[in-house]
Amino acid sequence: MAVEVMEFEGILPAVYLRTGENRPSGFINMDPQEPGTLLDLAMQTVVKNESIALCAVEELPRELLIPLFNAAFTGGHKNIVKALVRMWPFSCLHVGALDNAESFCEILEAMLDGLQFFPVHNSSSWVPKLRILDLRQNADCKTTCFSFMNKFPFCNHACTYSQNSILKLQGANNDHSTSESQLSRPPMELLVDIYFDGSRGARRFLSYLRYKVDQSLGSLHLCCRDLQIEKSHDYRNIQKLLDMVCIDHLGMDQAYLSEVCIIFPHMANLSSINLSKIIFRSYKRKNFKMFLSHLSQLTDLQELSLSWFPLKNQLHKLLRVLSPNLAYLHLNFCDLTNKDFIYLSESLQAKNLKLLNLSKNQISWEDSLPLRILLDNLSGTLQQLEMNSCLITDLILSDFIPSLRHCSHLRVLSLACNPITMPVLRSLLQNLTHLTELKHVTYPIPVHCYEQWHFRDSLDEERLAEVKLEIRSMLWAAQRTDMKWSTSYE
Ligand SMILES: [Zn+2]
Ligand SMILES: [Zn+2]
Repeated sequence: MAVEVMEFEGILPAVYLRTGENRPSGFINMDPQEPGTLLDLAMQTVVKNESIALCAVEELPRELLIPLFNAAFTGGHKNIVKALVRMWPFSCLHVGALDNAESFCEILEAMLDGLQFFPVHNSSSWVPKLRILDLRQNADCKTTCFSFMNKFPFCNHACTYSQNSILKLQGANNDHSTSESQLSRPPMELLVDIYFDGSRGARRFLSYLRYKVDQSLGSLHLCCRDLQIEKSHDYRNIQKLLDMVCIDHLGMDQAYLSEVCIIFPHMANLSSINLSKIIFRSYKRKNFKMFLSHLSQLTDLQELSLSWFPLKNQLHKLLRVLSPNLAYLHLNFCDLTNKDFIYLSESLQAKNLKLLNLSKNQISWEDSLPLRILLDNLSGTLQQLEMNSCLITDLILSDFIPSLRHCSHLRVLSLACNPITMPVLRSLLQNLTHLTELKHVTYPIPVHCYEQWHFRDSLDEERLAEVKLEIRSMLWAAQRTDMKWSTSYE
């Protein structure tokens, strides 16, 4: 494809690649959802011969084009993928859970190459059926959304926010009089997740995206749902290319708070925010106040992750602007204090959390009361608690074990790198074996296993092996071999 690679000064975008866990390589996603079958094997054979496969694109019944696409995508057969996108007989096409570790960006570029824009009143009787091309890696997506009627909403993942979305342009919600044939060009959507990280390939991919938007003459809505920005300071080019209202996941790493505040106001539908190493001078200055003000407007916010974000004795300011629906809160390396734990235990916004991660806060514990109150408040919802490297001592842990016992939905507990002795570790295990949903515990290596706590080099492997053996025996005796106890080194 002859595309001029455009310059994005200071921005090096990349396709945001997520690798599904527990997914074997070469996994084939069939629609309807069936595991690998003889049909899969047949299609994998077909795509190995490109000329036969290209003929098959024209000849095969449309239902068989789905396994053919899956085989071509996972096998990295770009020309076949491109031909299939061009001829796709369904309204939507999702990459979904399909994996291709070797040439993922190239395959996505081939898909973009295949994307066609034609006016409805073309002299040719053939009109592309594809309206939504979804390049996001989302394990929950099928390759296409089956619909008995070819009417909107024909795709479960269509944009609902942008004024340039198919929904808004067709007026499908409130104006059924506007038929597709009345539009000079049928609106289309291109769904992507973008990670601006500096790689050359990703920069090239973003140029492809821009090229397709320009080529569509306004009929293509580029819909980014997940935007991750790393070490980037030029947000204006991003803002020009994307409609920020579509973004529901935002991640920013190594940026100034003033830069976060520049793009924040345009993202009204964020459900997840992940900010790391954000630089700002003072809690009293304008940027911090603006940041809190924008947070307060995000009523659908489900997840907030702040790391290397100094909040010493300031947590109450953050908590009081958060949505009470917040379910996932990560506050790693936030320099939290005992006082912040008191705020957290009293906060109405922290009453429905499913996940709480407070790791890497070196707290000078005055007493365990705030922590006990917090866990009691969360006993009906908490599924995951992480407090690694929080300087939790025997005394503090012994105090809050009774509260942990009542967290009946707890599935994951992580208390690595805290100075705990073996008797308290035993007590922890004995008190948690009745929690039937608890399956994964990362426990602190007891202090007696170290010459000097907690330097890895001073770890006595023999003593640690004895600890592991004892824990295995205790789990066996409690008939909880389904529960995995491990150290952070495993
Ligand atoms: Zn769909
Ligand atoms: Zn959109």
